[in-house]
Amino acid sequence: MINHTRIVRIEDYEELVGAETVERIIRKASSLRDLHVVNVNSTYYGGGVAELLGSMSILMNSVGIKTGWRVIQGSPDFFSITKKMHNALQGGEINLTERKKEIYEEVVYENVIRTHLDHDLVIIHDPQPLPMINHYRKRGPWIWRGHVDLSRPNPELWQYFRPMVEKYDAVIFSIKEYAQELKTPQLFFMPAIDPFSIKNHRLSEEEIDERLSHYNIPTDLPLVVQVSRFDVWKDPQGVVEAFKIARQEVDCTLVLLGNVATDDPEGPEVYASLLDSQEERLIILSVQDTALVNALQSRAAVVLQKSLREGFGLTVTEAMWKGTPVIGGNVGGIRYQIRDGVNGFLVNTVEEAAARIVQVVKGKALRQRLGEAARETVRQNFLLSRNLEQYLDLFSSFET
Ligand code: UDP
Repeated sequence: MINHTRIVRIEDYEELVGAETVERIIRKASSLRDLHVVNVNSTYYGGGVAELLGSMSILMNSVGIKTGWRVIQGSPDFFSITKKMHNALQGGEINLTERKKEIYEEVVYENVIRTHLDHDLVIIHDPQPLPMINHYRKRGPWIWRGHVDLSRPNPELWQYFRPMVEKYDAVIFSIKEYAQELKTPQLFFMPAIDPFSIKNHRLSEEEIDERLSHYNIPTDLPLVVQVSRFDVWKDPQGVVEAFKIARQEVDCTLVLLGNVATDDPEGPEVYASLLDSQEERLIILSVQDTALVNALQSRAAVVLQKSLREGFGLTVTEAMWKGTPVIGGNVGGIRYQIRDGVNGFLVNTVEEAAARIVQVVKGKALRQRLGEAARETVRQNFLLSRNLEQYLDLFSSFET
């Protein structure tokens, strides 16, 4: 018989956020008991949305909300189009032909036919399943949750999306900067992490050593780490450049750990291009091992998240929770997590990133100070209990 003690319940958060908060959440949930909610997105693994949905759907069930999670399916050309849309929402260019719209809408319609959404509340995540709302008779509110960096969406694409977005009863973005001109009410919920998951729970030094040695990662020198999907927005090339400059002043090892989400066809190409960069003490790994992510974020002298655009950046939160200082790109949601010089550093260029790597790797006391502040920032602001409470408040607002 399997022991299900790993299944996280809201009560587990008491030691981190206090009994009062947990009781308040349980009270709020009790008036919503048996509400039937479904989330729809486009990948079951890889990237922050899958990460969030995995933990949040379990936690919501623990407070009595019957919460499901469905993943839409699509052909490679569908995901190639939706990835272009994703890039354009973050400010890139797109050649939005009628044929592309047709494929996009047709595949979504196929998913509509085989996905029966007759729930009390439907939450659609990101642009891939956005048009599903065109085909259902709504039984309750529909919410669109956009996770990407929407500070400068491509105007042509946004014009195409906007009428669909406005069919929703509410829209949730990660931060205020992503607000759009919309008839629909907009809310801002920053994502959060599950501190009890394999990715985020505390590992012993032996467990960390075991994971690192399993992948032949040397620990003789300080580790500089970036964990990210292989995606140009994460600027892995910039990380390698910054590392090369930093290594002229401080000896260290760079580990780039990445994966490819099932809805991201550009990943393999980005990975392949990185393999061209030959550099001593540079390790590029493409494996999916959650405990390895934890081990690297825990052991690193410094974690980088040198993104050029970033909806929120759960990898930043994850590393901060482990008391590891993060050097993050000065963009999007990263700016809401890192306070420059207080709990990490924000950087605008490769050169700035290099200088901060040198400073943090050399400064033991600095690492300690930033790391402690980082963990406390996450405890106060970025644990899933907070995100759950925001959802409960939103659900209740529909009830009244
Ligand atoms: N991740 C992972 N393995 C990898 C790369 C990323 O498990 O090799 C996880 C990472 O730990 C985080 C999520 O994928 O939980 C990435 O979320 P984030 O918000 O940072 O970026 P996104 O991929 O959604 O743009």
